[in-house]
Parts: sequence; C-alpha cells; structure tokens
Amino acid sequence: MPELPEVETIRRGLEPLLIGAVVIDADAHPSAKFAEAVEIVGTSIESISRRGKYLLFSLDDGRELVAHLGMTGSFRVDAIDGSADVDYAMAGPHVRAVWRLDDDRELRFRDIRRFGRLRVVEAGEYRTIATLSAMGPEPFDEAFSGRTLHEHAKRSSRAIKTLLLSQRPVAGVGNIYADEALFLAGIDPRSRRVGRERCERLADTIRQVLRAGIDNGGTTLRDYVDADGTEGANQHQLLVYGRAGEPCVTCGTTLSACIIDARSTTLCANCQKR
Ligand SMILES: [Zn+2]
Repeated sequence: MPELPEVETIRRGLEPLLIGAVVIDADAHPSAKFAEAVEIVGTSIESISRRGKYLLFSLDDGRELVAHLGMTGSFRVDAIDGSADVDYAMAGPHVRAVWRLDDDRELRFRDIRRFGRLRVVEAGEYRTIATLSAMGPEPFDEAFSGRTLHEHAKRSSRAIKTLLLSQRPVAGVGNIYADEALFLAGIDPRSRRVGRERCERLADTIRQVLRAGIDNGGTTLRDYVDADGTEGANQHQLLVYGRAGEPCVTCGTTLSACIIDARSTTLCANCQKR
C-alpha cells in the first residue's frame, strides 16, 4: 500500500502536469467509491497537496477532489484523441475514473483491487472521511515531535506499531515505514510502554525513514509506480521490512517475523527492546 513517500512522489509528478488544467468531461465506475469523480466537470485544478496518504486536488470552485490510493491505486496523464467519448471502461484495464482535460489529455485513475476511494468535498471539510478528519500532524510539521508522540503513547494501551498505523500521532506511516523507524529507534514494535526518551528517538527515525523514502522516489514492492509509471528505489534501502530470516545489518541476529493486528512485522529481537 502506498505510504507517505509514495503518495508524495505521485503528487510531485502530477502537479506540474495538471496545474491549470480544466476538466471538461468525466466518467467513472458506478461504485460509490468512485462515482463522485464526475462531479468536478467544469472546474480547473489549482494545486495538488497531500495529507498523510491522501491526495487533495484543489479546484477553482472551492471544492477538493480527495483521493485515497488504497492498495493499488495510481494516476496517469495520457494524451488522447479528443473526439472519442469519455468512457472509463474503454480507458484501459482496471481504470475506475477518467477526467477529460481541455487540451486533449486525460487523467486516469486505475485501481486493480478497488480499495481506493475518490470523494469530492468542500475544501477542508473532511467530516465524512473519518481517517482524514482524525489524522494527526504531518511528520515534517513542527506540530509533530517526540513530546506529542509521547502524549499519545502514554494514553494508549496498544502496541506502539498499532498506534503508529492508526495515523493519529502522525500522518502517513504504514507498515513499511513503521517497521523501519522502529528498528532504527531500537524499539520492539509490540512494546506498549514507550517513554519520553524513546519517543524522541522514534520521532526522529520516523522523519528519517520518510525523508529517505521521498528522496528515493518511494518504495516499489508490487504495484506502486509514480505518475510517470516509474518504480521507486527505496525498496533497495530497507533494513528490516520484508527481510525476515535474513541477518540484522547491525548485529547479525536473524530477523524475526510476527503478526501485529493482522499486519506482517519484521524485527531484530536483539536490537529492539520491549
Ligand atoms: Zn540486530
């Protein structure tokens, strides 16, 4: 599933292609997950921002197209024959929504497994999108720190990894970057007691792994590609995620796997403390 670095990479690829583009027609899969996509016909795209793992397309009429990529969602911009009908089903395999632009191009949203979601809301009005409205601060915002992370950890009885995946202490951390940040901070992902000092370290390593992920253009495991269809390179830098059974890069201990809240988790039992 795309996490913050992958979504940020997609945002950076799409924005220069779409700023100022006018949506002149649209078509979408009839599922409630995608059907709202057609409501933005007649608007132009002013900017594309990101909150956590959500992409926010700001429109010139004060609304936003909110996109969550789910497991396999991706956007592409393609040149098209402008006389053809706008038809999501004809736009390619697994395309769920198509927006015709005013210059013989189409923006297409493809989603094989259909865990993605497209919504149109008044700008900033996220009450109907629970995960987005309850989302914690961006990791690079000063509203996120070891202190604020510790406030969440103190109030929670859940495993620290579960807390991170909830998006409440900080936005954008999913399975890959949680495992990586917890390893670098020396914290067992199952730990339910993480004090102030360890929270300070963890806040630092969260920013460190997300920054590296962005710098590497994201992590490509199965389906993620950026707006140009290019794979990321961060998968070559992962220290623990997906490496169970291999030696720890720090101490040589065989990395172990466990399941936390139905998510596969990899850790070094020697380097990471409860
Ligand atoms: Zn180790």
